[in-house]
Amino acid sequence: MNDSTGRSGSQTETPFTDELRLIPRWSIAGALVAFALAQYYFWVVLPVHRHHPSGVPVPFRFYLILSWGALAALYVLMIGYITNDAPRRGMSKSLWALCAVMPGGVGVVLYFLLREPITAACPSCGAHLESHYHYCPQCAYQVAPCCTKCYRTARITDIFCVHCGNDLTANKPPARLQAFSRG
Ligand SMILES: [Zn+2]
Ligand SMILES: [Zn+2]
Repeated sequence: MNDSTGRSGSQTETPFTDELRLIPRWSIAGALVAFALAQYYFWVVLPVHRHHPSGVPVPFRFYLILSWGALAALYVLMIGYITNDAPRRGMSKSLWALCAVMPGGVGVVLYFLLREPITAACPSCGAHLESHYHYCPQCAYQVAPCCTKCYRTARITDIFCVHCGNDLTANKPPARLQAFSRG
């Protein structure tokens, strides 16, 4: 907290690698099993029950079966991701994990359409913060840079407020920097 330059300005955007870290180990293991099971089913189980030889050429069949396996694996990874992603957005983990199991990936698509922004805790008092807050509702800690005249959002690099033209550098410390110089 002493390092004011090293802190990231945005709390709603996380790099893709951070998102990948949300995928739990059991889900990665489950994805590998799902892939293996899909291969087993299409290469071993299905040909035994088929009475006439498949008319699909082998390279194409290879491609199809690998695709089905990858899809099954992706499904398990998505369910794992949702169980970790839903709680940090204040959404029900069990409800959305259950929803994600819906056939055809409908639940997964619904999840990404409907998911709430990431919620955060106030660095000063730990109160629940939503992504559009500028100040903590419990202790007035400034969590996002904003204009001191119109109190609308400012970017840390702005010199003038884009809404009212207020000179953001006139304040000491500048309003846009307050969130980062405290703490
Ligand atoms: Zn607070
Ligand atoms: Zn303003």
